[in-house]
Amino acid sequence: MPIVSVSDIDLTGKRALIRVDFNVPLREDETGRRHVSDDTRIRAAIPTIKKVIESKGKAILMSHLGRPKGAPDPKYSLAPVAEHLEHLLGSPVRFASHLTGGAIKEAIERMPAGGVILLENTRFYPGETKNDPALSAELAELADVYINDAFGSAHRAHASTEGVARLVPQAVMGLLLEREISYLGRVLDTPDHPFVAVLGGAKVSDKIGVIESLLKKVDYLLIGGAMTYTFLKARGVAIGKSLYEEDKLEEARKLLREAGDRIVLPSDHLVAAEFKNEAAHHVAIGAIDGDFMGMDIGPATVQSYRDLLLKARTVVWNGPMGVFEMPNFARGTLAIAETLAEATEKGALTVVGGGDSVAAITQMGFEDRVSHVSTGGGAMLEFLEGITLPGVAVLNTKP
Ligand code: AMP
Repeated sequence: MPIVSVSDIDLTGKRALIRVDFNVPLREDETGRRHVSDDTRIRAAIPTIKKVIESKGKAILMSHLGRPKGAPDPKYSLAPVAEHLEHLLGSPVRFASHLTGGAIKEAIERMPAGGVILLENTRFYPGETKNDPALSAELAELADVYINDAFGSAHRAHASTEGVARLVPQAVMGLLLEREISYLGRVLDTPDHPFVAVLGGAKVSDKIGVIESLLKKVDYLLIGGAMTYTFLKARGVAIGKSLYEEDKLEEARKLLREAGDRIVLPSDHLVAAEFKNEAAHHVAIGAIDGDFMGMDIGPATVQSYRDLLLKARTVVWNGPMGVFEMPNFARGTLAIAETLAEATEKGALTVVGGGDSVAAITQMGFEDRVSHVSTGGGAMLEFLEGITLPGVAVLNTKP
């Protein structure tokens, strides 16, 4: 059923409690002050905030930042984010050093229509991750309408993403969440074929669910990253010292049996004797010698993945093809980023998510050359797995 969007409702004079994803990296300057070092997630939330401001509502923002242990920790304060947001919006942003309570209620009361306030880190409160009904109720008291715009946290049932939404008069999705659901929904429900998925990263275990679900839909599933070696070992290919998961070999064998030639594994690898950027490396074709480990996909694999991707009409990509943090082993991942931009130019719908894949797209300056860059890593994988995200399931639907 279609979910009610912030565009569907009247916000005039309303207190709009918006769950955003301001979990951004911070850096400290020489004086000890913290600054936002990458504001992608803040910028992604601007359309919804502006919508509330322009509709003469009151924008009350909340987010988590980092992993404080359920108690205030200045390292994880959202104060620097409030400052940064003020620059981006070009209008004042108040900052509240608490999340709930009488003083916050009064501050909101005093705010003019179109005002913005950012509340302190939701994870300073132990009730947040426990989805505590008492904390949810306190949050609900601040709102006439709740807007979820934090796709990256929608797979978690926390007080600020799920509990609060049950207790407010209206719970709707923000513009960013709407865009995520629209693109990922198209990929999952009505993909044009050929549909090719690219999955990489460290572990098969993180991705078994999504592999199983995608295998029902895709024409090809291209594998990269350390995941490769669990699959290759399962197939009886020598993988040297490469990272793999012994306890997932049986599962990998089963997936390979079910998928036939729809699971495509790398045919060559950049290998090194040591796990470091400076390590001498060479291309291994097929099996990997005992002293070496696979660090990235090789040039023949890049070429064959390119060929399949450039014929695709729908592409979804999550996870690096190699040890992306090390520039010498980032080439495979960057090549996939480049190929996705080319596939998009040729008319494919392309969706990218996950930290390293998004970093590769950004590093190439291709954010605008793919159809959609998802703000969710884990949330995107769960969505593609067909799991109903708790933060989405709780929102109001249209009759
Ligand atoms: P994930 O969090 O599952 O997306 O995995 C990302 C991590 O996988 C990155 O830190 C990569 O360095 C790592 N990775 C990718 N390929 C390899 C590889 N061949 N060997 C070891 N680690 C890898």
